[in-house]
Amino acid sequence: MELTGGLFIGGERRQSDARFHAYDPAAGADIADAGFASASEQDVADACAAAEAAFLPYSTKPLEARARFLETIADEIEALGDVLIERACRESGLPAARITGERGRTVGQLRLFAKEVRDGAWQKLRIDHADRERTPPRPDLRLRMVPLGPVAVFGASNFPLAFSTAGGDTASALAAGCPVVVKGHRAHPGTAELIATAIIRAVETCGMPAGTFGMVNGTSRKVGETLVADPRIQAVGFTGSRGGGEALMRIAAARPRPIPVYAEMAAINPVILMPQALKARGPALAEAFVASLAMGAGQFCTNPGLVMGIDGPELDAFVARAGEVLSGQAAQVMLTDGIWEAFESGKAKLAGSAFVTKVAEGVEADGPNRGRAALFSVAGKDFLADPVHLHEVFGVSSVVVRCASLEELKAVLGELEGQLTATLQVDEGDYPEAQALLPVLERTVGRVIANGWPTGVEVTHAMVHGGPYPSTSDPRSTSVGTLAIDRFLRPVSYQDLPEALLPAALRENAQAGTVARIDGSWTI
Ligand code: NAP
Repeated sequence: MELTGGLFIGGERRQSDARFHAYDPAAGADIADAGFASASEQDVADACAAAEAAFLPYSTKPLEARARFLETIADEIEALGDVLIERACRESGLPAARITGERGRTVGQLRLFAKEVRDGAWQKLRIDHADRERTPPRPDLRLRMVPLGPVAVFGASNFPLAFSTAGGDTASALAAGCPVVVKGHRAHPGTAELIATAIIRAVETCGMPAGTFGMVNGTSRKVGETLVADPRIQAVGFTGSRGGGEALMRIAAARPRPIPVYAEMAAINPVILMPQALKARGPALAEAFVASLAMGAGQFCTNPGLVMGIDGPELDAFVARAGEVLSGQAAQVMLTDGIWEAFESGKAKLAGSAFVTKVAEGVEADGPNRGRAALFSVAGKDFLADPVHLHEVFGVSSVVVRCASLEELKAVLGELEGQLTATLQVDEGDYPEAQALLPVLERTVGRVIANGWPTGVEVTHAMVHGGPYPSTSDPRSTSVGTLAIDRFLRPVSYQDLPEALLPAALRENAQAGTVARIDGSWTI
């Protein structure tokens, strides 16, 4: 399929003289093709107007039609074949096996959301029948969740498929009944165009309104700013830097009608080596830690950027083995030149801390945008002395915190900013101490892991990929898993509405096949 570089506005492809080029990070050079249109403020406004026009016709389609639409998008993405894999690899520097896996995850989550739409429990149906005998009489009250309206989605640099054009934010917003306008990430515009084409084919096949999906690109910040400020946009899904997320939150909050921004931003994901586990399997843990750290050039929001343990010979052995394995790590191509520069600068700041020791470095880079792995260490008592120790360094870089005691470790944990995950390496003999840490971890993170590694986020019903600020802007939600649909819904109550005016799902005895709370009791 030939790329045209057009924007996706109300079902039409729109071109512009203002263009930019995709970048091949492995070659360190632009990709020489026709390039991609940069959206003007008018283009953004038109995409939002089309999304608003699509909102009622789309959100009132039967749930079965919405579910089929999500499944058709998945089918159309698979039908793109190897062209998609090749383009995504070229634009991201990621290997084909990783991108192929990510495609599987992307279509898998679209199909999971289709099932979720059919299941209907997300509507949270509640009926409290009237009590006319009571003084004063109690009215008939019925509740369901309704979609918010058009949603803006910012594609992520580090997941060109699973967190981008048809990624988790788009899938959950469409599942909720919200049209989507994507601000494509400039790091992979060709990949985004291929996926957007697949979505538009599904829009047409399934007879959905033209503005159900739109996409605007560009290299100017104005594109994203205009999108979030547009009065027709009712919520934002974002994955990226803390600076970017916070800028969009400020714009959303300053609108005459502020809207929620679900931004997933920065995390260092502490791994806690409990004493018995460290003693029993320190070197094996070190090897598994480096494997998790180095996966995907370390460009995961769940990367283990902090490892904590009690100082002593067992921790020495762990650090020695981790350093040994890490020093054999080849430098890997990073997603963009900007991300590589940010990685180099983050490592330099850590190395510049008066409290930090460099444990090991990976193999020297042999080409552009290759990130050289690094491992640092710091004493627990010094960890909080310099805020630089707390900053995410996006890439293969981690800090070992040597604590004098479990009390010190607990104190350091208690001072951490909000995180997506915390991991306990724990044996049975550690359970009493681990139990004491759990309340601290629950306050700080969205997912607690035992004897695994934080990289690898399953898309299921019970997954939380979220956490307190600044890991996300709103700790009450998740951006992965079926609960993500809640972000784009709000409750509406219907009081004493005649049966004929009630939404079909709230009419008497119409709740068969889904969960509902009727007069206080849960029924299926
Ligand atoms: P980013 O710079 O935050 O950009 C993400 C998206 O938001 C892009 O489309 C970008 O548009 C837009 N954006 C950023 N700042 C904006 C602003 N002030 N106003 C309007 N739009 C704005 O993230 P990135 O490019 O993916 O990577 C940069 C850094 O983010 C990395 O080095 C890493 O530290 C961090 N990161 C973290 C995660 C995570 O999951 N924790 C994931 C990816 C990246 P433009 O391209 O036009 O700026």
